[in-house]
Amino acid sequence: MLTRCPECRHKVSDSAKSCPSCGFSFDPQDLERYKQQLERLREHKKEVNRKSAKLQLIWLLIFVVFIAVATWVTS
Ligand SMILES: [Zn+2]
Repeated sequence: MLTRCPECRHKVSDSAKSCPSCGFSFDPQDLERYKQQLERLREHKKEVNRKSAKLQLIWLLIFVVFIAVATWVTS
């Protein structure tokens, strides 16, 4: 049976203890750690997205205020 290395997508025999291509360990403990790392990375990305969405909202607000002031000044 062949499986794929989650790290480098290399085809690896599922009886192998580690990936011959990148050295990724298939030890259940290491796999668990790897999954947790991925989960943390995903959470981090979500957090970054949330922050950038908030930043975009602030810029939109500044833009709207600027337009309002510009309209008020010129009229
Ligand atoms: Zn690999």
